[in-house]
Amino acid sequence: MAVTAAAALIEDHLLGAGMWKSLGHGSSYLWFAGMAAFVIMCIFASGSGHRGFSHSLLAMALETLCIWLIFPSAAAPFAVAFASHVLMDMMNKRSVRLFYPAKKGICLGWFYADRLANKAFAAGGTLWLIAAVIICLR
Ligand SMILES: [Zn+2]
Repeated sequence: MAVTAAAALIEDHLLGAGMWKSLGHGSSYLWFAGMAAFVIMCIFASGSGHRGFSHSLLAMALETLCIWLIFPSAAAPFAVAFASHVLMDMMNKRSVRLFYPAKKGICLGWFYADRLANKAFAAGGTLWLIAAVIICLR
């Protein structure tokens, strides 16, 4: 996630989209609190295993709050991306602990994670992202 955030900031800086410039605006205490909480949650999430805390509604709410403190305009897109990732993970055959800390997870069992449906969703998502970037740059 840190690599993705860094890549997004570099891309934003290179494209001049403005997110980079908003860093540090507003209350610096809230910005640092958001960054610190986000880093702590990422560490906790990586320790709780894939599809544990990191894929829960609790994590989505807390991390979206952190993103709102860091980049208010990125909070809604972050929440949508988070939710779409969790929804995609729920479609395959390994459960997602959506209601963490509850032990029971949700698994729809429709697809395998590394087969055709996964590749089709990845290709479709990539094409959609390229189209969105092209549309935004026009
Ligand atoms: Zn996942």
